[in-house]
Parts: sequence; structure tokens; C-alpha cells
Amino acid sequence: MKKPETEFSSSRRETMKKIALGSTAGLFGLLGSPFANARTPEMPERYKAGLPPVKIRSVKAIATAPEGSNLIVVKVETTEPGLYGLGCATFTQRAAAVVTAINSYLHDFCVGKDVDNIEDMWQSFYVSSYWRNGPVLNNALSGLDEALWDIKGKRANMPVYQLLGGKSRFAIPCYAHAGGNTPEAVAESVKTFMDQGFRHVRIQQGGYGAVGANQAKPDFKAAGFASEADNYMNEAAYLKSVPKMFEMVRKVCGDEVELLHDIHERAQPMDAINLCKKLEEYRPFFIEDPFSPENTGWWKQLRQSTTVPIAMGELFNNINEFLEPMANHYFDYIRIHVSQIGGITPAMKVARLGEWFNVRTAWHGPGDVSPVGHAAHAHIDLAVWNFGIQEAGRFSEKLQSVFPGCPTMKNGYMSVNEVPGLGVDINEKEAAKYPIGTKSNWQVRGRDGTIIRP
Ligand code: MG
Repeated sequence: MKKPETEFSSSRRETMKKIALGSTAGLFGLLGSPFANARTPEMPERYKAGLPPVKIRSVKAIATAPEGSNLIVVKVETTEPGLYGLGCATFTQRAAAVVTAINSYLHDFCVGKDVDNIEDMWQSFYVSSYWRNGPVLNNALSGLDEALWDIKGKRANMPVYQLLGGKSRFAIPCYAHAGGNTPEAVAESVKTFMDQGFRHVRIQQGGYGAVGANQAKPDFKAAGFASEADNYMNEAAYLKSVPKMFEMVRKVCGDEVELLHDIHERAQPMDAINLCKKLEEYRPFFIEDPFSPENTGWWKQLRQSTTVPIAMGELFNNINEFLEPMANHYFDYIRIHVSQIGGITPAMKVARLGEWFNVRTAWHGPGDVSPVGHAAHAHIDLAVWNFGIQEAGRFSEKLQSVFPGCPTMKNGYMSVNEVPGLGVDINEKEAAKYPIGTKSNWQVRGRDGTIIRP
């Protein structure tokens, strides 16, 4: 049966006629080869061919603890001599387990595969264990993902932020951590950071949940219950101390400095909501982690009760966990631990999704993220429009001796060096001087010894 004539079929027939007559030699050439004549003669030679394929030769974990925190870095070596990539896979509390996941599973999975197909490598490793979404494998995957972005940047001869779209800002505004055991000491600490140029400062009195402010021996320790090393949190004392701390810091440091505070999931949901309401008058920049991941059912009530901006998400394992809170405007800042969620690839997806819901980025950047991981944050921070704030990295001389090329801090801004890739290298000889440990103490208990979830 004859097909009805359409505009498309008619113009296509005309084109084919021209080709048959040889009147469009250029077009004929294009049909003959996917590359031939795809560039004009004026185009420099180096742009005419793509990059030759490169395969993964080995994947290994490098474990080091220069400042006491266990850091894990994935090194992906390739078939191109001298070309390798680094990614942060740090899970400080279970570092040895991540080392095993990398050396025993990730290596075998990756060897012989193409370095270029980052999305495919991410998706295929993600489901390769069938059971997924656990922190250990997620950390290994994050290290692989960041290392592949590092390699891609090196191959393209560009810093990674260029591959993510280029700069949206000249540098990255960061917040510093001020602390002390009294409101006066916290205010003094804030002033020190303001003098260094920071315009955003997080304030904590006595550490998370004010555990360090408790002088008295708790009942559970007096009774010989649990470990002497466990932390004690007096929730009532903590809840009373936070507004007083804000009041003192505003009095001493003025209204201009942006103040942040981390509840660290340690209060009961209603107590956290009441605390946020009390803090409104001090205009916090954000309040972080009001609820543990087990208590997400309180989001709606929190948002109906207070207008304090909320940052959340460092304990989320899977990017799907961000969809519902974002779509419901339950929080204002995404607090992803990038070297836990799966690396740059998934972090970019959540960041871009945030643009639709006016949710801004605030990547988790504590001391137990390696400088490679901090650099990964920084490259995303430079590129995405909906950047919010970055937790500042601190790069001591010791860290810099292990990780040449660390990002730099100046006047409250973080900057990356402009070398291709993520820009941070590793000195394996130096790294080996600082072996990792297997002990960590995250136990926090109430007066009677009940575990408090962080
Ligand atoms: Mg936090």
C-alpha cells in the first residue's frame, strides 16, 4: 500500500535526489563516515579526532590517618602510563571494611573496563552486589566515581568543574566551626573566625548535644553501666543552653554574621521543633539535622511550626531519600555526605533537582572527608547555580604533605587549584606513615544509660 505523502517524506526524497546527482558532496561524505568532514579544514588538527580509549588496569584503596581520622582514598590506575584518578571513599568509623570492599570487589569489577563511561560504571557497580544502599559499598562506589571524574578531567585537560558546566561563582563561601564550653567562649571563637574573613560560622557549645559541657558523673556511669568512655547527653540542659548561646553570640558579634547550629539528630522530635521556634529571633542561617533518619515523619509539623531554615541529609544513603522532602519543601539545604552517597554523579543529580525546589547545597565537609573529597565538593560548588554554603575543610601541613594540591582557604572562601581533574594528588609514601585504626566512639547515652541516636 502506498504511504500518504508528507512534508517530511517529500523533502527527504528531494535530498536523496541531490545526493544521487552528486550535487552535495559534503553531505555524501558525512553519510559515508561518522567522522569524515565533520570538521572544517580550518579546525586545528587536535580537535579533529576524539581521545583514544583507556581501560582500567587496577583499583586499590589507600588508607591513611594523618590527623587521627581514618581516611580512605580509591586510586584507579589505567592502561595509559601515568594516568590515574583519585576519589574519596572515607567511612571513618568502618574504614577497614571499605578497604576490603575496594581491594576485594571493586578491583575485580573494574579491571578491563573503559574509564570514560562514568554513568554506566556507577549504575552497574550500584546493582552489582544485588543488595545495595549500604554505607560500605556506597563509600567504595563514591571513591570510584570521583576517581573516574578525576581521570576524565585529566584526559580533557580541564578541572572537573569545567566538565560540570564551568564556574557559577569565583570561589566558594564556607562556614567555620566555633566552639567552647560557655556562651562567652563560643562568642570569642566566632570573633576569631570573623577576623579571618568568615561571614558564616557554626556555633556549638560543649560539642554536639553539649556532651562536653556536662561536669557531673551521670547515673549510668555511677552504676557501672556501659563504658566509662561513653558520652553523656543531658537533653534538658542542652535545649536550654542553645538559645542562651545564640543570644550571647548575637550580643558580642552583632547581627551581620550568619550563624548555624547542628542539633545532630540528638533531641526528641518535639524538643527539636520547640528549639527551632525559640531560635527564630536570632535569625539562624540554618539549623542542621533536627531529626534522626528514623524520625522523618515529623517534617511536616516542623515546617508548619517554624520558618527557621533547615539543612538535612548527611545520614541519607540513597539519593531517592531526597525526593520526597524536596518535593514537599521540607528543608532548604541538602547536606549530602558526597563520599557516602556515591560520589559526584549522584550528588550532581540531587543538586540539579534542588534547582526545581529552591533547595540549595551544603555538602557535609567534616575532618573525616579526605582532601580529595573536599576538592570534589568544591568542583560541584563552583558549578551548580543553587549552591548554598560549604562546610570549610581544614588542610593542615601534615594533610598537605600526604595530599599535595589541597584546596585553599582565604577570606572565608575556598578555591581549587586549576590543574586538570580534581587537582589533589596523594603521596603514598607519606600516607603510609599514618596507619588507620579500627576504634571509634560514637556512643551517646542519657542519664539512665539509654542510647541516644546521633
Ligand atoms: Mg551534621
